[in-house]
Amino acid sequence: MTDSEKKIGLLVVISGPSGAGKGTICKELIESGEFWLSVSATTRSPRTGEVEGKNYYFLEKENFLNKIKQGDFLEYAEVYGNYYGTPKSKVIEKLEEGKDVILEIDIQGALKVKETYSKGVFIFILPPSMEELKNRIIKRGSETPESLMTRFKSAYKEINYVSKYNYAVVNDKIEEAVNKIKSIIIAEKCSVERIQENIVSKEGLIHEQLYD
Ligand code: 5GP
Repeated sequence: MTDSEKKIGLLVVISGPSGAGKGTICKELIESGEFWLSVSATTRSPRTGEVEGKNYYFLEKENFLNKIKQGDFLEYAEVYGNYYGTPKSKVIEKLEEGKDVILEIDIQGALKVKETYSKGVFIFILPPSMEELKNRIIKRGSETPESLMTRFKSAYKEINYVSKYNYAVVNDKIEEAVNKIKSIIIAEKCSVERIQENIVSKEGLIHEQLYD
């Protein structure tokens, strides 16, 4: 394969309301070894069991704001009173290596990525019902009653954004949802438009779109 035929990885953006099961789905996808999951930075405190550099990079607010100024994030957003952001350079590096990259980010962040990199595949995860969504957040046990209500109320608003995404996957049974996502990715890779783009793509193509 020559430089001019260099294969660029697929950027897969996964969003959905809190409790829809994005985290579990992404974990399963990563365990298959076929994808690279971007680790986000956040100003929120670690939950029990969360590991620095694995779940998140936990940053002080000042440090996070500096990184915004330096243009280190592909996107960032304030979610439930904390900042979250996707470190840019690693994502670009992996895509350029031809690796498929998964971003598990909120809707504001996903829409920002879509503006700059519409070639991404944008997948929205839906819960089977709102009742089930609530049960899942309660079961997780990581939220205070106030934060539970905030997340639950946000979920009603967030679901309206499903129309901005390319695909919607209902997460009733994890295995089925994961298989659907893998099938979406396989289908996207067979898209004639993408195949043609990959053939003509030159080094730097990603830079032009993501680096600004
Ligand atoms: P949590 O605090 O439950 O880990 O995450 C809260 C929300 O922030 C989730 O919807 C999650 O997808 C989102 N999130 C995690 N990392 C990022 C990121 O890098 N950027 C954006 N925009 N949202 C993120």
